[in-house]
Amino acid sequence: MKTLHFINAQLPSGEHSLLVEDGKIVALNPVSVPDDAEVLDCNQKWLIPGGVDVHTHFGMPLRDGITSTSWRDSGEQALLGGTTTVVDFANPESGEPLGDAVYRWHTYASDTVVDYGLHVTISDPSDERLAEIPDLVESGLPTFKGFLAYKNRLMLSAEELEKVMFAVRDAGGKLLVHCEDGELNEKCQNELIASGKTAPKYHPQAHLPESESNAIASLVKMQEKTGCPTVVVHLSTEKGLDHLVHTPIEREVCAQHLLLEDSIYKTDDAIHAICSPPLRSKKDMKAMQSGLTAGQIHWIATDHCEFPLEIKKREAKKGFHNIPNGIAGVEQRLLMVWMMMVKPGKLTAMEWVELCCTEPADRCGLSGIKGDLAPGYDADIVLFDPDIEAITNVWLRGELVVENGELASDLPAGKFLQRQF
Ligand SMILES: [Zn+2]
Repeated sequence: MKTLHFINAQLPSGEHSLLVEDGKIVALNPVSVPDDAEVLDCNQKWLIPGGVDVHTHFGMPLRDGITSTSWRDSGEQALLGGTTTVVDFANPESGEPLGDAVYRWHTYASDTVVDYGLHVTISDPSDERLAEIPDLVESGLPTFKGFLAYKNRLMLSAEELEKVMFAVRDAGGKLLVHCEDGELNEKCQNELIASGKTAPKYHPQAHLPESESNAIASLVKMQEKTGCPTVVVHLSTEKGLDHLVHTPIEREVCAQHLLLEDSIYKTDDAIHAICSPPLRSKKDMKAMQSGLTAGQIHWIATDHCEFPLEIKKREAKKGFHNIPNGIAGVEQRLLMVWMMMVKPGKLTAMEWVELCCTEPADRCGLSGIKGDLAPGYDADIVLFDPDIEAITNVWLRGELVVENGELASDLPAGKFLQRQF
């Protein structure tokens, strides 16, 4: 089948050419190249692996017919931003078997244009549900999600979360945890509403920094007790990071908490920044940056979850707590991290690739398949031009999906990725 020979490129590993056959990378600096190979001259631009964003919510039904941006549209954004792989979340309805929710999510993703895996949310810690975990791990779904926030919806008590942690550990899986103190958030929210503070700008006051650090402090104890491989997702506070540095718990930061700070809530644009956790102070943002530089944070994701502005405005009339939570980011992540972290010298280009591609892939069960330019890996390749600060071309499994910054007219189908540890 198709053979591609990328030449005159700068690879993170220091190599200059790369050979692709049948959608897989077969060699770096190949010694022999088939005569019929298509030669792609990279003109000394950079070749990096396709981005891997392991925290997205594409096409997620929320409630009352409100759904985040579809798989197709979100996937196109991802490709334009150089991200070729996502790991999204399958969220069961109350009483729904986990396997049924996974099946439902595959139907939502049926027109995906990026490759995808699924984390499975566990909001029902019953024996019946937990008994499904080993089969899910076996079928390529080894990562799960638990919430200490969202009272009366997704929240698990400490006892319940521990029970989930034992089950995930025993099945050889890994648990991702949303760390906010659901009781404290609920109390703050009720107080704000009672005093008439319902505008979007009050959203962060219902998600205080100590809500995150309290939840993390209790998670650390649960992890010690259970020994479950655990990840704190969308870490956003300095105090939260302080609790974690000497623990085996892995840490994800999302681009918004790494690169943006909370002054937007003082403006009329607050509605554009309704996400949980909310944007934090400059001090917390700087702590996320220095945590990354110090190797205390393991990967960068986005929590991409985009809702139409008109829906947010409509829901905002019923108070900030009704606004669908989530912001976009999958298209911006790679380039923004480059511009705000690599260009000013806070991260090296190699660290950029590790944090946005290799580490999230490895730590979510995709090593050997995604996140690196090395023989045997899928030929997910991004051509990046640092002179014009642009991702110009993107290949998914050897197929050109973005050319000169434009989507190809005929995008190949993305596929489901079975992951394992
Ligand atoms: Zn999320």
